[in-house]
Amino acid sequence: MIAHRRLSNPVRIGNVIVGNDAPIVVQSMTKTDTSNIRATRTEIKELAECGCEVVRVAVPDMQAARAIYDIRKNSPIPIIADIHFDYRLAIAAIDSGVDGLRLNPGNIQDSQQVTSIVKAAKERQIPIRIGLNAGSLPRAQKKYSSIAEHMVDVALEQVKLFESLDFDLIKVSLKAFNVLTTIQAYREIAAKIPYPLHLGITESGILKTGSVRSAVGIGILLNEGIGDTIRVSLSTNPCEEVYIAYEILKCLSLREHGPTLISCPGCGRSEVDIIELANSVDRELKLIRKAIKVAVMGCVVNGPGEARDADIGIACGKDKAAIFRKGAVVSTVTGKADFLPALITEIRSLCEQIL
Ligand code: SF4
Repeated sequence: MIAHRRLSNPVRIGNVIVGNDAPIVVQSMTKTDTSNIRATRTEIKELAECGCEVVRVAVPDMQAARAIYDIRKNSPIPIIADIHFDYRLAIAAIDSGVDGLRLNPGNIQDSQQVTSIVKAAKERQIPIRIGLNAGSLPRAQKKYSSIAEHMVDVALEQVKLFESLDFDLIKVSLKAFNVLTTIQAYREIAAKIPYPLHLGITESGILKTGSVRSAVGIGILLNEGIGDTIRVSLSTNPCEEVYIAYEILKCLSLREHGPTLISCPGCGRSEVDIIELANSVDRELKLIRKAIKVAVMGCVVNGPGEARDADIGIACGKDKAAIFRKGAVVSTVTGKADFLPALITEIRSLCEQIL
């Protein structure tokens, strides 16, 4: 059971509400050169199709800032401009119609420059994420007991500056590679500000390790009711980030999204190649949007129980498998080659009946 959700002042990013009791939003980031408008649009479309709800694009130069105008025109999801070092890029991205900004206080430190950005964002009523990274903190002006404390202090300074300019469309993130540092930083800031928090473990690595690190860090915080948007940062196709993000949210019953595959690991009792069967079913399920549960089980000893509990399940025996639908056996398939097609037929048939 999730702890009570930390309620925050909601902000709107394009047509997406973030914070308070709105659903936890799944974000990702394009890996294209933003000035390549066609490639960036294509990647955003792919990300939206796999469930990404807000996308961030890098804005390393003026060409990229101006490209946002065309990228945004037909974008299916809101776009956030990621700004480092040059405040003029933020102003140009705002002029291009971007839906939100991410600023790193570690690399735009001139308060006059930050003020210019905030004023422009206020005019257009777009939110700004104060996005800190443990690796790019400004030089410490005093002694801190931990990196987390340093991050929180810098974020609070920036929040104070924004508030002094009567700007409250604020979101904050405090990302570190170290999971414990990240958790500590978010816990501390969650109690100090009323703004939505964007969660992530930065530079978390490749698909396997990055998914685990992100699931632990983001999952612990979400379970404490902290967090309003999440991004799983992985060195792989960004659609995988979205897939893992939803798996985290599904594990905690915070969102429903697409199908869930339950599969046994296989053991000496397996009567089929369970790894191949489960992966084939997973590929099929990636094409489905309906929130169904499918169980793929390798034997008739422990298999039927799980298969019965899922919406669709298969319990495989030697050359024979029982297919379950909503708890009842609907067919018995003979011949291993027919297990997968029979299961897929049943999955598709169920999906057709779900509106
Ligand atoms: Fe082994 Fe059967 Fe359990 Fe799969 S369900 S791990 S095959 S005992």
